[in-house]
Amino acid sequence: MIENFDAKLKEYAHLLVEIGANVQPGQIVRLSSPVECAPLARMCAAACYDCGAREVVLNWYDDFMAREKYLKADEAVFSEFPAHKKAESEWLLEKGAVSLSIIGSDPEMLKGVDPRRIQTWQRVSGEGTRAYFDAMTASRFQWSLGAHPVPSWAKKVFPDLPEDEAMDALWDAIFSVCRITGDGQAVARWHEHIETVAMRCEVLNAYNFKSLHYTNSLGTDLTVQLPENHVWEGGSEASAAGIEFVANIPTEEIFTAPKWDAVDGRVYAALPLALDGNLVKDFYLDFKGGRIVDVHAAEGIEFLRHSIDLDEGSNYLGEVALVPYDSPIRNKGILFYETLFDENASCHLAFGSSYPTCVKGGADMSEEQQKAAGLNQSINHVDFMVGTADLSIVGITHDGQQVPIFIDGNFAF
Ligand code: ZN
Ligand code: ZN
Repeated sequence: MIENFDAKLKEYAHLLVEIGANVQPGQIVRLSSPVECAPLARMCAAACYDCGAREVVLNWYDDFMAREKYLKADEAVFSEFPAHKKAESEWLLEKGAVSLSIIGSDPEMLKGVDPRRIQTWQRVSGEGTRAYFDAMTASRFQWSLGAHPVPSWAKKVFPDLPEDEAMDALWDAIFSVCRITGDGQAVARWHEHIETVAMRCEVLNAYNFKSLHYTNSLGTDLTVQLPENHVWEGGSEASAAGIEFVANIPTEEIFTAPKWDAVDGRVYAALPLALDGNLVKDFYLDFKGGRIVDVHAAEGIEFLRHSIDLDEGSNYLGEVALVPYDSPIRNKGILFYETLFDENASCHLAFGSSYPTCVKGGADMSEEQQKAAGLNQSINHVDFMVGTADLSIVGITHDGQQVPIFIDGNFAF
């Protein structure tokens, strides 16, 4: 039993709708949720209408059925993207609909599924929703994510607890890292947090670093060049219509784009990576001229390889993100097996697409212009954690000055 559960759930829904998606009167909201996560989805829908939403368009899905389909459906269904789904995403884009997604899945949901089926479908659905995905990463419309525990996920995070206690423990962890206490003040606390993050971004943007040099005792020795007009972002961002929103709650990260063709050296993962329902453990990547030229993993290497092989852009980095080791999520000492949380526990990198807004004017550039400006393009975007307690990151300015950014896993300023 969680004390004040209903009040906390309501506070969470309001946080997602008011700070996360920041739903405005008259807007259409597309609400996606697994059927098992209906309690939070329903409260979010109510909060959307409280904010004056014109309509909440539901997109329910079910992981059990998705798995059955992967295992048993005709091979051909994975290589064709349904026309009505494409039409729907075009309609949502045209209407400037807000996207709010509730996530909650078994981290090993796809264990045992042929990775080629997953890869084929990801490629096909990625192409089918390319315009929508691109508009989302370019922040053309407001979007946000929330999470709702399901038993299989809770048991993965807390394997030693009985199912109901594991569910409570995961809810507790989610509420706590989202700064939800049940006092109804989470929205106010988030305004304050967003301001702190914005101040750090200002400091980093003022340096306009040429490159970052990562080292730690695992063996990481990686140099990441940054595009000339890169922008560090974090906390909130503005949609094309100028509406501020927070894409990820919780968010502790400050991120930008690496220069896709100028990353060299080796980087070790600090945490396992949950990928398409499978785990990749103890891995490192070697880079040359931006490209991943070698991959090693103690476990699950085939899933990592399949993800990197998804398209050409997956072979290159698209994001560098700074998160203090001493952060609320890391301090919980829990691996959530879910990127939304785990990426806020640690400095991370992502292979695959960049956020176009990480370069000045990037959102208004053509694909060719984005590429020339240093932004990577892909239908993939996979975050992996690299931050350790001893991580050092040194920023090198265009005039050769070396500035410590991270010392022993935390911000140097
Ligand atoms: Zn990130
Ligand atoms: Zn990312």
